[in-house]
Formats: sequence, C-alpha cells, structure tokens
Amino acid sequence: MAEQKLKLAFYWAAGCGGCEVSVLDIDEKILDVAAAAEIVMWPVAIDTKYKEIRALPDKTIDITFFNGAIRNNENEEMAHLFRAKSKILIAFGVCAVGGGIVGLGNIYDKKELLEEAFINTPSTENDDKIIPAPKYKMPEGEVHLPILNEAARALDQVTSVDYYIPGCPPQASQVLDAVNAILEGNLPPKGSVIGSQKTLCDECERRPKEGEFKKIKSIADRLDVEPDPEKCLLEQGFICMGPATRGGCGAKCPSANVPCTGCSGPAPHVKDQGAKMISALASILQTEDEEKKTDEDIMREIQKIKDPIGTFYRYFLARSIIPQKVKDYEP
Ligand code: SF4
Ligand code: SF4
Repeated sequence: MAEQKLKLAFYWAAGCGGCEVSVLDIDEKILDVAAAAEIVMWPVAIDTKYKEIRALPDKTIDITFFNGAIRNNENEEMAHLFRAKSKILIAFGVCAVGGGIVGLGNIYDKKELLEEAFINTPSTENDDKIIPAPKYKMPEGEVHLPILNEAARALDQVTSVDYYIPGCPPQASQVLDAVNAILEGNLPPKGSVIGSQKTLCDECERRPKEGEFKKIKSIADRLDVEPDPEKCLLEQGFICMGPATRGGCGAKCPSANVPCTGCSGPAPHVKDQGAKMISALASILQTEDEEKKTDEDIMREIQKIKDPIGTFYRYFLARSIIPQKVKDYEP
C-alpha cells in the first residue's frame, strides 16, 4: 500500500499575508514538501472552501500552520475549526504567537478603531459617517461581514496551541524543520517554540566582546543619527530589542545597520518582552552623576522615545502585562 502523505494546512487570519508568502521562500524545497505532504488549505495558493474543511473528520490534518491574530469572529471560528481538525496546531508568525502588529490596536477600544478607520482619517470622505455593519440587506439578499472582536488576541488566547513559530515573517526553514520533525518523529515537547533557544544578541556579530553592554548616556534616534556599522546598536543609544528577543533570524536587522524591533518575540524565559527591554535599558542608562540617578532621570531619557508602545511592544501588546483598553461597543 502506498505510504500516506502528511496532510498540511496553512491558514491566514488577521495578518498581512507575509507569513503565507514566506512559505514560498523555501524555494525548490517546496517540491520536497509537496512530495511528502498533501496541502489541504493554503489561501495564498489554492482555493479550498471552509465547507471542505468542516466536512473533514476531526484530527484529519496532521499539522496546521495558523498565521494571523484573532481580530474578528471569523478568525475565532476558524481557530476552533482548525484546532478540531488538526493533530498539531502551530501558531505561525508573530501575529498568531503574540497578536503582532494587529495587537497594537489594543491601545484603542473597538469604537475608536472603527471611527478612526472609517471617519477620522484625513484621506477618508464619509460625510454620512457610515461604519460598515455586520449585516446589510441588498436586493439580492442579506450580506454579512465578520464582526470585529473587542480586542485582538493571540491564537492560544482562544484555543490550545501545540507549538509556536514566531517571526515577522518566520524563517521559511522553520516550516521545513517542523515538517521534518514530524516525519522523523522528533518533535519537541508540546508548548515549545520551534526555533532558537538563544537571545538575538547571542547570534549578533556586534555583540560586545566583554559580554556586558557599555553604559549609555542618552537615547539616539535612527532618523537623526546614522549608526556606526560595526558597534553594538544599543551601546550607541539606539533601541535595539536584541537583549529581550529570541534569536533564530541570524540578527538580520542589526547586520543591515537597523535596530531589531523584536519580531521573533520574547527571548527564552522572558515573559514580557517590553518589560524586559525597559529593564535592560534602565540598567545601562547612565546619567551625568550616576550616584544621584533618579527615576525621573531615566524617565526623561525614556521620553525621548517617540512611540514607546510601538517600540517596546510592537508585536506582543496583546499578551503583555499592560492592561488592554476594551469597552463594549455595538456597531
Ligand atoms: S543589542 Fe542589537 S546590535 Fe547590540 S548585540 Fe544585541 S542585537 Fe546586536
Ligand atoms: S533582527 Fe529582530 S526584527 Fe529583524 S528579523 Fe530578526 S528578530 Fe525580527
């Protein structure tokens, strides 16, 4: 009897689609995946209908790579559907792992988000202040739109997840690693991140040779100053999220002279990436008179950061220790 192929699914919830496209970065190795697996859903490449997935017996799909945050009721329904139909559910990409860029919307409530998007933006012409309704009657019948949830959530905030592959987008090689681990029966313990167990700084060529970061006197802005291409960016005062971020990408951004924004998520054993980075920064900020350094001195420097939430919590606000701003709102 011919050996049964693995059944794989890729699903795209609230995200930009980059995670889906990143799978294509495995280039010709996609042929190895295609030889070993049958892809039952892949929105960017094949046209599978939801009803086909609903019709599958439970646990038919071997691995689902689920990307995107849970922002509306359709995303949430699909999270539960793929959980039921999959033996292994992987939160794929930082939006599924931590809410991602989508989660940044959680500093506003749903009413503010809708009004900003459909009424207030300078490029919007909407004199009647119409906000899309979840139901609308047309001559042809009633049409429905997904309903925005009160806040964006990570995948494991709505259903159980077996493994995590962070990144914006993830490295294509991580898809192959996960498929190979299944084929070889060599999966890590459930709940693991499939990826590096080091911090980004551990794999960065700019890492201070002495092991510890030099003290810095002030925060620098990438828009005002061109970084020295050799030295550690943090030691030059740029907010490089390396100390709080998981490795695995080969320190791509610092190697292009750009500070890391933290897309691989919290470093191993770090619960809150933003809090860890703020604490790392506070420990290396040195005022003129270090003996007399006060919280106000540190705050003055921190206030030079133009977008603190977007800097420290760009990808993990949805699951940070910062309380979410959520109010009831009926469109
Ligand atoms: S702080 Fe940034 S530049 Fe410095 S070693 Fe870490 S990743 Fe590299
Ligand atoms: S350096 Fe940081 S932001 Fe850039 S790809 Fe790596 S983890 Fe993501």
